[in-house]
Amino acid sequence: MSDWFERYNGLSQLGREHTPDYRGYVVRVDSEPNPEKWFTYAFDQDDQHTYWLGMSDTEAEAKAVLERLLVHGWVCEVFENSQAGHCKDQAVKVKHIWHERGQERLRSLLCERHGDVFSDWAQMTIPAYIRTYNGLEQDAAFIGKRL
Ligand SMILES: [Zn+2]
Repeated sequence: MSDWFERYNGLSQLGREHTPDYRGYVVRVDSEPNPEKWFTYAFDQDDQHTYWLGMSDTEAEAKAVLERLLVHGWVCEVFENSQAGHCKDQAVKVKHIWHERGQERLRSLLCERHGDVFSDWAQMTIPAYIRTYNGLEQDAAFIGKRL
């Protein structure tokens, strides 16, 4: 994997920008008086597009979000049962729907095996979803952590 470079205090990049090794960056958000937050962004080499991956409490956690994506890719988010926990298969699509109240969009990453759940939700490929909404956050809809 590429190395992290600290551009300045509060912004680190994974790989050198403008090279084929570049993968994205983490940045500290000035949040005084609130606790500090870090945003993670991925850079897609194929379409030269930077997109949102999520928010973390520490720089280390923010870096881990990008590293996890590069190692494991997008993972299905279906909860199977209390024994197996969440599905660990590779996700192949995103299904999404607007929540009836408010402006919230519900969405779920799904593998081939679970591709038919949420049959009335709209469906997109993962790259198309990222291009359309400029971001995707693994496990964002979970209450608590992935089992
Ligand atoms: Zn699955």
